Order: sequence, then C-alpha cells, then structure tokens
Amino acid sequence: MSALRERVFYAVLDLFYPPHCAACSAPFSEGERAFLCADCESKIERIDQSHVCRCGCPLPEVLDLCPQCAAEGERVLEQIRSFGWYEEREDPDHVLSALIKIFKYGGERALAPLLAQYLDEAGRSLRPQIEQITFVPMLPKDERERGFNQAELLARELGKLWGIPVVRALEKIKETKPQASLRSRDARRENIRGAFRLAKFTPCASILIADDVCTTSATLTECASVLKKDGGVEKIYGLTIARGAQKNIRVEDV
Ligand SMILES: [Zn+2]
Ligand SMILES: [Zn+2]
Repeated sequence: MSALRERVFYAVLDLFYPPHCAACSAPFSEGERAFLCADCESKIERIDQSHVCRCGCPLPEVLDLCPQCAAEGERVLEQIRSFGWYEEREDPDHVLSALIKIFKYGGERALAPLLAQYLDEAGRSLRPQIEQITFVPMLPKDERERGFNQAELLARELGKLWGIPVVRALEKIKETKPQASLRSRDARRENIRGAFRLAKFTPCASILIADDVCTTSATLTECASVLKKDGGVEKIYGLTIARGAQKNIRVEDV
C-alpha cells in the first residue's frame, strides 16, 4: 500500500503542477493539454466492444454467450459494458488500473471527465435505451470519509455527456466488506445481499447503473434487483470503467 500511496501522492502532485502525464508523470511539451502521454494512452487495456457477451466480456466470434451467462437463466441486468481491464495488484504498466486507483483512493476528482469518456466509449450502444442514470451508492459515513462517491462522479459526468438525468435512486444501508477482499462469487453475493434500498426515485422503464469496477457483478446485480423489485424498473443496465479478473473465453469451455 505504501508504494501505491507514494505513486498516488506524486500523481496528485503532478495534476496540481501540470503539464505531466497523470499515470507516469512524464512531462508534456509546453502547450500540450492531455491527461495521458501517448505511451500510457497506448497501454490502456481496452476491451474490444465489437463482440461481447451480455455480461460485457469479450467473446470468440462463434459464441453469443460466455459459459457463465449460458448457465444462468433469468438475469436482472439486461447488459453490462466495461471499458477495460482492472488489475488489483500493483503493476506500473497497468495504466487503467493506476488511473482508477488515483481517482478513487488518491481523491483525484479531476480524472472524472476522462474516465467518463471511457464510459461513453464502452456504453455507447446502450445509450438510446437509457432514461435515467444512477450509481452504486456508498454508506454516508464512508462517503464522508472519502469526500466523494467515485461512482456518483462518474455517473454525473456521463449524464452531462449523454444529456440524460442522473438520479440518486438507491441508498446503501448495510456495512459490507470490500468486495475485493472476497474471492468467490457466492461470498461476494452474500456480502452485498440486502445492502441497498430504494431512495428518491421517479419511476422509469430503463436505468443505467454506473460504477468504477465490476468483477463478479454481484454489486450491480444486487442494485439492479432492488430497482426491479421495489422500483418496478423494467430494463436495467450496468456500465463500469473496468472489469476485474481477465478471463479469456475459449470455445472448448462452452
Ligand atoms: Zn504517461
Ligand atoms: Zn457472459
């Protein structure tokens, strides 16, 4: 953690004393205005959106669903889209993960517009179906401690880009362990069960839930089931900057 703290510290410093790349601190030439240098930009681990499963993971051409989605029956989420990959462990080459950590734990809100552009890129195909945008809520005490809810900042920036209202549709009512500390899908589902309830909510037919990272989709699924069961929303979509646990779907697994 201390290495991360140090990197975060310098990254934040660099954002206050531009022009430097937000990820690697390389100085920009004068007049150049960007978040990332060309080298870091080229390292961003994008998911090829041309053929993805409804859960958002990339698929081989011949498949329409990943093994997990094929095994699942009814789902509360219509589709999930994620822009790129997330790596929990420290890796200086993992630019997207570094940006998310700087944004979330380093408090660098200035990155929200850049990250929202990534949401826009990954979620463009969903946009025509979306009436409202919401976000995964935090417990009020956790939000006070961090100073902001990163998912809400992302949702608000995306709302500006798309011209779609952003609503605080849910609130978090239960303390949960960090999902990243739990490995199995079942443990994550159990951890997050009953953690959310409906907040101020204007009924609508379709809503998009924004978040920073999705790994097993347990959190998005729990939020979606509250919106569906208690809010009566018909179609619910998830959109995240990144997806944890890269998995390559192979034809022989299906
Ligand atoms: Zn860079
Ligand atoms: Zn899938």
